[in-house]
Amino acid sequence: MMLGSEEWCSLPDLRIPAIKMRIDSGAKTSAIHALNIEEFRKGNERWVKYDIFPIQDNRYVRVTCESKVTSEREIKSSMGFSERRYVIQTVINVGGESWEIELSLANRDSMGFRMLLGREAMINRIIIDPAKRECQFNVSQNQLNKLYKNKQIKSGNLNIGLLASNPDLYSNQRIIQAAEERGHSISFLNITNCYMKLDSEKPEVHYRGGDVLDDFDAVIPRIRPNVTFYGCALIRQFDSVNVYSLNSASAISKSRDKLFSTQLFSKHGINIPITGFANSPIDTNDLIKMVNGAPLIIKLLESTQGKGVVLAETNKAAESVINAFKSLHTNILVQEFIKEAGGKDIRCFVIDGKVIASIQRSAQPGEFRSNIHQGGTASIVKITAEERKLAIKAAKILKLDVAGVDIIRSNKGPLLLEVNSSPGLEGIEKATGKDIASLMIQVIEKKLRKQ
Ligand code: ADP
Repeated sequence: MMLGSEEWCSLPDLRIPAIKMRIDSGAKTSAIHALNIEEFRKGNERWVKYDIFPIQDNRYVRVTCESKVTSEREIKSSMGFSERRYVIQTVINVGGESWEIELSLANRDSMGFRMLLGREAMINRIIIDPAKRECQFNVSQNQLNKLYKNKQIKSGNLNIGLLASNPDLYSNQRIIQAAEERGHSISFLNITNCYMKLDSEKPEVHYRGGDVLDDFDAVIPRIRPNVTFYGCALIRQFDSVNVYSLNSASAISKSRDKLFSTQLFSKHGINIPITGFANSPIDTNDLIKMVNGAPLIIKLLESTQGKGVVLAETNKAAESVINAFKSLHTNILVQEFIKEAGGKDIRCFVIDGKVIASIQRSAQPGEFRSNIHQGGTASIVKITAEERKLAIKAAKILKLDVAGVDIIRSNKGPLLLEVNSSPGLEGIEKATGKDIASLMIQVIEKKLRKQ
């Protein structure tokens, strides 16, 4: 059989339907990259249990194998080091031909390829055509995904921390469930129970009781507005010890500052309702004029779930509400009222630059706020290409990996209302039936795979 320098094979005894190997007559023994090798006995026989990660650059597809040990050998690697390795026997299948080969279990990843076919395994069977680099027997990415579909789901091995405040919330429960379903281990970390050691050489994050949190691969921040400051400091600390956060501290702080994020949006040409911002009690009338007069919306800068959003129907009412807020020294935003939206807005759930689900939220009769917490109801909606573009752009401007982008439909086209960095999962998962928590976990897998 004529082979190129890289080929696909299958190892039916080990239940490995496809693995790419390097054909290397320079090496005597064939080898496969195996991890977690453990020896055990079956009667008088020596056996080993080990994990194979058959796809290059991918630690999420794992096949656990058991084989009888045929020998243990001192093997010299290409780097010149020699090490003791277990050797097993198994059937290889290349392009329809099968034969038995010996494979050493190499517990290191430096081979580049997950498998190496040495000259012992080729004798009398294979002629290498060194000019042919491409495989004779190709396996497409699509086929690979199908072949390893079941292995993928149960094979995560990340250690994830959920940085939040209430483990009983629907969103937090779902995130924990999705991470576990994908085979990861996930711990709930109460933000206010974490503390930090600032040290230029060895920064640390500790948890109530004294444990050092030093073995996390990633954290998922679900930070309540009232702990934004501390939560973001914590994410930065995790970042300093190379723990990836699904939404960075700077992206979260930007999204939490409604004024700053609104300024960023208008700077980048995103359409928003006409908005004024003020702090001092003078010029209330001009502020009202600026947004084309009543009816208008007044928002507390720290508002969430629609709690600090007021509709003033007349100029007089607007004036008194604005002055009342100002006398409390709160920062407020004054905004034109988009009447034609009819108490509806659109929530687009953006993950890693894609809108993966969208719903329309409709206010209760007599109410203009469509927040679910204000009695609003959610239903599936088909968004326009323009709305999709707007949602993706808004998340990108703030550099959020996960974002809930709220859009309101006006006579002038879609307008951006706000961007939420810890969007709730309940309304949108229930309305669309999509497993959004799992998609969030998959982004972590993807980001870490690239590192
Ligand atoms: P919060 O952050 O408290 O949810 P929002 O700015 O999202 O505040 O406003 C809450 C709700 O009020 C929105 O979901 C929307 O239904 C309604 N709303 C907000 N701004 C306007 C506006 N300018 N015109 C019409 N309705 C609005």
